[in-house]
Amino acid sequence: MPSSKTVKDYIRTIVDFPHEGILFRDVTTLFADPRGFRLAIDQLLHPYVGERIDKVVGLEARGFILGGAIAHQLSVGFVPIRKKGKLPGAVISEEYTLEYGEAVVELHDDAISAGENILLVDDLLATGGTAEAGIKLIERLGGRIIGCAFVVDLPELGGRKRIEAMGMDVHTLCEFE
Ligand code: IMP
Repeated sequence: MPSSKTVKDYIRTIVDFPHEGILFRDVTTLFADPRGFRLAIDQLLHPYVGERIDKVVGLEARGFILGGAIAHQLSVGFVPIRKKGKLPGAVISEEYTLEYGEAVVELHDDAISAGENILLVDDLLATGGTAEAGIKLIERLGGRIIGCAFVVDLPELGGRKRIEAMGMDVHTLCEFE
């Protein structure tokens, strides 16, 4: 039977994870479904068809799954941005603010060359703090960000406005309140 499900239909909500009062939007159910995963990859890529993209950068951890599939589709390289202490080579770092405390993300200092066109990918845009830190890392190495693509936008948390205010093109596939 042909399926008319949308990307949003494949995303599961887990109540009170990782702590009470949080509705966690779980994209593992989207990734696990063959139609769902393919639909998400196709839709994430769609605005950038015909654009020159040199590398896809994914944010840890679900951005690796999406970014890897997109990079393969485009026949370009994939570069991870990881949490502090995970990358083995020389890195550059950016600190950002979480709901409780601070976090640091890192990028290998030779992973992007000046002037390369970059597509940044993650599963979900909430406050935009993680994406902002990732954008700063890419720009410090001279990367030109063609777009920032996410499966889910949580508009009430303001991430899209924050990232657009940095001059970025933001592409999202669905919203949750
Ligand atoms: P932000 O930095 O506040 O925009 O949060 C986005 C980051 O937190 C992304 O890397 C997401 O993977 C993760 N995140 C926050 N809330 C959720 C959720 O409900 N589901 C999945 N990931 C989430």
